[in-house]
Amino acid sequence: MSNLLEVKNLEVSFHTYAGEVKAVRGVSFEAKAGECLAIVGESGSGKTVTSKAVLGLIATPPGDVKKTSEIIFDGQNIMNYSEKEWRAYRGKDAAMIFQDPMTSLNPTMKVGKQIMESILLHSKVSKDEAKKRALELLKMVNIPNPEERMNQYPYEFSGGMRQRVVIAIALACNPKLMIADEPTTALDVTIQAQIIDLLKKIQKENNTAVVMITHDLGVVAGMADDIIVMYAGRIVEKGTVYEIFNEPKHPYTDALLKAVPNLKNENKSELRIIPGTPPDLIAPPKGCGFASRCQYCMGICKEQSPEYTKFSDSHEAACWLNHPMAKEVYGIKDIKE
Ligand code: SF4
Repeated sequence: MSNLLEVKNLEVSFHTYAGEVKAVRGVSFEAKAGECLAIVGESGSGKTVTSKAVLGLIATPPGDVKKTSEIIFDGQNIMNYSEKEWRAYRGKDAAMIFQDPMTSLNPTMKVGKQIMESILLHSKVSKDEAKKRALELLKMVNIPNPEERMNQYPYEFSGGMRQRVVIAIALACNPKLMIADEPTTALDVTIQAQIIDLLKKIQKENNTAVVMITHDLGVVAGMADDIIVMYAGRIVEKGTVYEIFNEPKHPYTDALLKAVPNLKNENKSELRIIPGTPPDLIAPPKGCGFASRCQYCMGICKEQSPEYTKFSDSHEAACWLNHPMAKEVYGIKDIKE
């Protein structure tokens, strides 16, 4: 599959009274048409800021996307887009689905009208054609009785149906890229599964590149082709879903996986937590950002930021543990032990 989106060396900071918060530092990744890339990490890791930068949604000031960053969409560097160009791109080429559908929908406007507005804003069609397309979209996202539902307000829909309406609006102009920021977090488990299935269907049928931002590794396992793991504004590991789940090479990835509840839990072992808190991004540590929480921390970790070690064409991690000297000098064992 070809790369639809390439992000190279993305740097985003925010100017605050306390100082400059370096929220995203040197982030590079690709998203392919027809595939799903998951960005995982805890709150404050930079995953939402990264996705907003890709959509030109960082308010400047206080935000600042460094000019050396590159965002290449469909072969074109869009970093220097004007506000008008970003708006056109967001409606036509890329769309975002947020966590809480109630904040994305206008509570005072009928659902059908909201979908039609989105269609009319971005394509030159008559009102009748927009209405027809809105009905098709409601059917596509499995809303029962779409003719009737067109004339209802968001409060008359359940949480899961509201998220389907948000997805229908996002699909209004057939975007090539869809960014979903925790799209299932506000929903109960059975509805979550339906929304994930719907996103998978859209991804395959429309050849859409989906970027899924989440802290839920269950969602990732069911949906993603590739994963990037972010911590303290940096990518600490990236790989295919198989590589990340079966061969994690960064202690943070490993700790995230061990923190997932396992219903079988045959050994009755306690859920593992990751003690400590992420570093202050106004003054990030000069070495590894995870050093203060890492059980394998070595002398060099606090002094020098780890470079990426490649394990395959798709798999790499930034951790000194993967340096040949780690085993020799410190006698470090494998992180899975
Ligand atoms: Fe731990 Fe050092 Fe690896 Fe950072 S570089 S994750 S502190 S072993």
